Amino acid sequence: RRQRQMCIRDSHTLISQCRKDFPILKREVNGYPLAYLDNAATTQKPKSVIDAITNFYENHNSNVSRGVYTLAEEATEIYESGRDAVANFIGAEDSGTIIFTSGTTESINLVASAWVQKNLKKGDRIILTEMEHHSNIVPWQLAAKSYGIELVYWPVTPEGRLDLALLEELLTNSVKLLAFTMVSNVLGSINPVEQITKIAHSHGVPVLVDSAQAVSRMSIKVSEWDCDFLAFSGHKVYGPTGIGVLYAKKERLEEMMPFQGGGGMISHVEKQSSTWAVPPQKFEAGTPPVAQVPGLKAALEYLEQYGIKEIERHDNELTEHALNQLTEFPDLELYGPSEIQNRTGVVSFNLQNVHSHDVAQVLDESGIALRAGHHCTQVLHERLGVPATVRMSFGIYNDPSEIDRMFSALDQARAIFLH
Ligand code: PLP
Repeated sequence: RRQRQMCIRDSHTLISQCRKDFPILKREVNGYPLAYLDNAATTQKPKSVIDAITNFYENHNSNVSRGVYTLAEEATEIYESGRDAVANFIGAEDSGTIIFTSGTTESINLVASAWVQKNLKKGDRIILTEMEHHSNIVPWQLAAKSYGIELVYWPVTPEGRLDLALLEELLTNSVKLLAFTMVSNVLGSINPVEQITKIAHSHGVPVLVDSAQAVSRMSIKVSEWDCDFLAFSGHKVYGPTGIGVLYAKKERLEEMMPFQGGGGMISHVEKQSSTWAVPPQKFEAGTPPVAQVPGLKAALEYLEQYGIKEIERHDNELTEHALNQLTEFPDLELYGPSEIQNRTGVVSFNLQNVHSHDVAQVLDESGIALRAGHHCTQVLHERLGVPATVRMSFGIYNDPSEIDRMFSALDQARAIFLH
């Protein structure tokens, strides 16, 4: 027990010192230390990730799965060991179920094209939620137009949650897929993936989980949860841009047509037709994001040294600190749950009578980077009844004093716009 307590104390200390691992956080913005509170958009990169990419280019650069010379074999080994690391990180039993893509957006487009094409027909329905990012709406709209499919929306409650009882009503016989986000990139709400998957499966409906906002904040267990598809982006988990992941159950992979044609995804090509490589290569046409893979692997290792429990604890502490202050100001409207349970460090609000872009601009003058706008969730903003919101989103390197700075800088916005 003493050893465990020591372990917990060590990871507390480690995470409080992690800021020094991120070179960009040493810079100043407008004469102030950078307070980076836009982690839902993208995260900053630790030196170990930057080094892993540089090391690949300096020492191992080659294309993968093609050459038989030493460099090509090294590059292929690095690439495949990245696939193993991802499988391990998200609890997938078989690394053959991990497809590298360019990001969450491409992962979802892959399913909306390659899986829908073979498995859905005119009159079928797909359920989405009102809290989805555009990348989990528009690909389905494109598929809906091509195949005569209907999109049905699972409404968001006034508290910013999903009502499971309503899902039961929506799961009619014509529903063939449920695609939903694990964490809302505006409301911060966490949706219970395992429970939702169980309900959908009891109606014979597969699920796709958009975990773009979840992988950096909480533990993911695809095999245990039994979800059919899961997508995320490397750049939101402290890894590089240009790489993402699609996890798909083996049987779903077998149901899919190729997504794109090209080198690497074929078994044999003739003048008029071709046969396909086995998954995951079947879905990785062309040169994949080779150098990004060791970067992503280094990012996952970086998170593992703290442990996901400690990361969650830190995220909860920051969220609570922000919510406590936010609810003190009568002129600040919070969008999303005000209680900490099943909620993460994505906190959106508006300052009454001031446009969110004006707020963000004033905050930037104090070195505070956060996002204003619709955050690629116009359906959700329509539901919230506002065109735009200000969003703080926390990462492992943030500390409560940066949130305090944000609230002090808001006073300046009040002084400028509401004098
Ligand atoms: N899904 C959610 C919930 C997101 O927050 C985002 C990005 O903000 C995406 C999908 C799209 O991610 P990417 O642009 O990396 O493909």
